[in-house]
Amino acid sequence: MYEGPVADLITELGRLPGVGPKSAQRLAFHLLAVDSADAERLAASIRAIKERVRFCSRCFNVSELEQCRVCRDPRRDTSLLCVVEEPRDVLAIERTGEFRGRYHVLGGAISPIDGVGPDDLHIKQLAVRVGEEDIAEIVLATNPNIEGEATASYLSRLLKVMSTEAQPLRVSRIASGLPVGGDLEYADEVTLGRAFAGRRAV
Ligand code: ZN
Repeated sequence: MYEGPVADLITELGRLPGVGPKSAQRLAFHLLAVDSADAERLAASIRAIKERVRFCSRCFNVSELEQCRVCRDPRRDTSLLCVVEEPRDVLAIERTGEFRGRYHVLGGAISPIDGVGPDDLHIKQLAVRVGEEDIAEIVLATNPNIEGEATASYLSRLLKVMSTEAQPLRVSRIASGLPVGGDLEYADEVTLGRAFAGRRAV
C-alpha cells in the first residue's frame, strides 16, 4: 500500500509490543507531520539507549555507569534486597516509594516451555551477592503468573539453604492481591505498595 521509507517505518513500528498495524500507520503519519527537530530527538534517544545504556554490574538494572543509580545511592538499605524479573519492574516498585533497599534483576523468569532455566537467569550472581553482601531480607517480587511463581519457589528453596546462624536470611514473597496472571508493571502504585507492605515469609 505504501512504499519506501513510510512503508519501512510502519513495518518497524508494527514490530513494537502492543502496536498493531493501525497504530503503526497512525504513528508513522504522525512522525511524517512533526517538526524535523522533534523527530530527530526521538531518533537520537533511540540511538542513545543502544549506545550508552548498559546493565549495572551489581544488580543488572539498566544503567549509564558501571553501577546503577540505586546501587550508587548511599542512603539505600543494603540489608534489604528485592528480586525482580526485569528492569521495568524496578521502575514500578520505585514509583510506590515503599522500598528503600536494593534490587537484583533476574533478566526473566524460569519457563520450561520457552526453554528458560535457572542458568539462563542472573541466579548465580544472586547467590554470590548473598554470600558477599550483608543481606538480611530478600523480597521475591517476580510476577504473579505461573513463571513468576515457579521462579519464586525455586529461589526460596535455594536461598533457604544459604541461610546460616551467622547470617540468617529472611526470604519473603510480595502479598497476593496483584492482578493474577498479570505483570507487576501493570499494577497501580497503591496496589503494588500494599503487596510490598503485606509481604510474608516463605
Ligand atoms: Zn544496580
